Amino acid sequence: MKLSPDRLIPPSHPIARLPSEWVARVSEWGEPAYRGKQIFDWIHRQGVLDPDEMSNLPKSLRARLHEEGMGWPVEIVSSHEAADRTRKLLLGMPDGERVETVLIPQLNDDSVVTQCISSQVGCAMGCVFCASGVAGLKRQMSDGEIVAQVLLGRRELGPDRRVRNVVFMGMGEPLHNYDAVARALVLLTHPDGLDLSKRRVTVSTSGLVKQIDQLGRDFNGQVQLAISLHAVRDAARSKIMPVNRKHGLGELTEALRRYPLSKRQRITIEYTLIQGLNDSPRDAREMVDLLKGIPVKVNLIPMNPISASDLRAPDQSHVLRFQEELTRRGLSVFVRKTRGDDVAAACGQLAFHGESRRSPRA
Ligand code: SAH
Ligand code: SF4
Repeated sequence: MKLSPDRLIPPSHPIARLPSEWVARVSEWGEPAYRGKQIFDWIHRQGVLDPDEMSNLPKSLRARLHEEGMGWPVEIVSSHEAADRTRKLLLGMPDGERVETVLIPQLNDDSVVTQCISSQVGCAMGCVFCASGVAGLKRQMSDGEIVAQVLLGRRELGPDRRVRNVVFMGMGEPLHNYDAVARALVLLTHPDGLDLSKRRVTVSTSGLVKQIDQLGRDFNGQVQLAISLHAVRDAARSKIMPVNRKHGLGELTEALRRYPLSKRQRITIEYTLIQGLNDSPRDAREMVDLLKGIPVKVNLIPMNPISASDLRAPDQSHVLRFQEELTRRGLSVFVRKTRGDDVAAACGQLAFHGESRRSPRA
């Protein structure tokens, strides 16, 4: 780990403190170092935030912890499970804002789960096919709020199932909230805590070039990177993804070539297929040229319809033809199945469905 605690922004909430920061805090109270480690263990291994449940701590220390404000920074407002066991959690924060997180079981073994998490309330990037983009940015999420999604997700799964992969593919552009996301990454992959493998944590970005470089530097290229490509010519991409007007495809692909990937690791290219817009055989050919020499795997995502737009997915046979065009030219390509449709949980389309976004009095 290259990123040391002193290079991170200070934690926003006790839940976001690292073991060394807990040790420093408890030593201010005259407690030995191991007490700090025990607290981190309770929070990040056991998922316990209530000091009264931290049974191996002395009463006096529990009382101190109560004064620290150990309430959950996010709470589950509702939880819906789809027929395929995909579960969507609607989460509420103290200021009334809401985000979603989705637990997606592996197809052949549903005890192993990928969790899709949010990094912002809404999103400033304005992609025209995306509900979060249409909504605009309401506010950043804090490091504590980001990590709490996974702690709550794991609790929701119970003892026999586990979160193995985490993807930043919910609401928001994670690299537009870099500092909080960086601390969350350190916490999620901490060996004394949730201990997720860095390669199993994916940061998905619309293409913020400077922050891609920063992520590569801070985590030695070990965090899995996913790029929302969605178009292979600047004019087309700028039309659907305003970020491309600032960082065009040339700049973006250069950043991908620089990303310090280790051997056998590949960058994920996400490509949302939109009928008549980016789904022609020419698009497929040009994608192959654009990505030449970059180790990638491509995920094709048939666009999920959103109410703010008439754009939609091509039909299934067209999707398969597009996949075939790419495969024939040597790319490895997966078509992402929409999971959990019946609870509107499709990851990448997390937004303000069904339930009001603010509490009635907010
Ligand atoms: N902001 C980040 C991560 C969140 S979105 C990013 O854009 O990469 C996760 C993925 O879902 C992205 O590839 C995004 O472009 C895609 N997506 C957004 N809206 C979608 C929709 N309506 N249908 C299909 N994919 C969508
Ligand atoms: Fe933001 Fe990603 Fe949606 Fe674009 S696709 S608006 S970057 S969440």
